[in-house]
Amino acid sequence: MSQYRTFTAADAVEYARQFGGVDNPDSLVDSLEVGDGNLNLVFKIFDTQGVSRIIVKQALPYVRCVGESWPLTLDRARLEAETLIEHGKFCPEHTVKILHYDADLAVMVMEDLSDHAIWRGELVKGKNYPLAATQLGGYLAQTLFHTSDFFQHPYQKKKDVIRFTNPELCDITEELFFNEPYEQHDRNAYPRELERLAEALRDDEELKVAVAGLKHRFFSNAEALLHGDIHSGSIFVAEGRLKVIDAEFGFYGPIGFDIGTAIGNLLISYCAAPGLLVPREAADAREQRLNDVRDTWNSFAEGFLALAAEKSTDRALATPGYAREFLGKVWSDTIGYCGTELIRRTVGMSQVADIKNIDDRAMQVECVRQAITLGRSLILLANHVPDIDALIMRIRQNG
Ligand code: ADP
Ligand code: MG
Ligand code: MG
Ligand code: MG
Repeated sequence: MSQYRTFTAADAVEYARQFGGVDNPDSLVDSLEVGDGNLNLVFKIFDTQGVSRIIVKQALPYVRCVGESWPLTLDRARLEAETLIEHGKFCPEHTVKILHYDADLAVMVMEDLSDHAIWRGELVKGKNYPLAATQLGGYLAQTLFHTSDFFQHPYQKKKDVIRFTNPELCDITEELFFNEPYEQHDRNAYPRELERLAEALRDDEELKVAVAGLKHRFFSNAEALLHGDIHSGSIFVAEGRLKVIDAEFGFYGPIGFDIGTAIGNLLISYCAAPGLLVPREAADAREQRLNDVRDTWNSFAEGFLALAAEKSTDRALATPGYAREFLGKVWSDTIGYCGTELIRRTVGMSQVADIKNIDDRAMQVECVRQAITLGRSLILLANHVPDIDALIMRIRQNG
């Protein structure tokens, strides 16, 4: 059994030589820590030509962006690697390939995606990837269907619910998504100009009942193995290609949470566009984001229904018409969780580049106001939006 120690740049090179599966391990000579996330160390490993070949990612025993005062389980590296391996079985095309992992060192070696770009950064620049949303919907359909009771053997499913038990990372989500934005909390980070709007959320009993329902289903609906953090910063894109990374929040939860998180980040981008781009480009970008929302949902729903018709193994769940009825509930959850993502990214602590990169303060405040207002309406309307066209209409009505 290996003992945990935090890797130096040299340790990362040595580890990649051993476990990177490259033909000529001695050609790996250098590394650079590039982690820009909130939690972990990420090393790029370079060959003698200076080309990045392999990634080594290691969990720290605390939250990186806060420090040692916020300890966090190392088991998240195992959960990340095992979630990505499981998702990779069902959707290899869109899941980063894990080459090796070691639970004691909390480290994994993975495919290098340096020829891709993080989708959030591209969205901030106003760059459109016309296939990305359809591919993301396809990833969600494959991973969520194949890990659900529609497909898994009931014994295996119950074992996997235990294997993917992730209380500490779920606790972060439970606090940041469902509690703090609706309370007075020192981690909240909304602009002070919006104090009255934040106060209105705290005083809105109907909203808080709806959020309680979403949190309750997050606690208890073990429908499928979720990615758990599928925002645009966990997705790499390139021309015609898409790969998902960073699944340390993986656990068995409600399917609508992953879809809502994904769509919520497209809508953050929609709200932020006027602050980031000149008017003509912003208008185009907003139309593209609405198309992305539509493509993500349609690709997920069509994919899930096709898989259910073809591959359901449970005799009752395979009953014609049942998968479609189930998707109706997933749709309502999707809208609700999308609303909570919009609010936690604006009112709560997990602020994103889409908003932070807006230079004009007044414009930034207006974009945040729009995101919060949209989030609130979606949470309240979650059970009353019949289909994707009605959702797009609601978003347009929000302004
Ligand atoms: P965290 O869990 O700390 O958020 P991420 O897995 O999101 O870490 O990785 C942080 C950053 O490291 C990414 O935004 C990206 O720039 C880089 N990175 C992560 N995985 C890869 C990869 N497979 N290929 C290339 N770069 C990567
Ligand atoms: Mg990340
Ligand atoms: Mg992460
Ligand atoms: Mg993350």
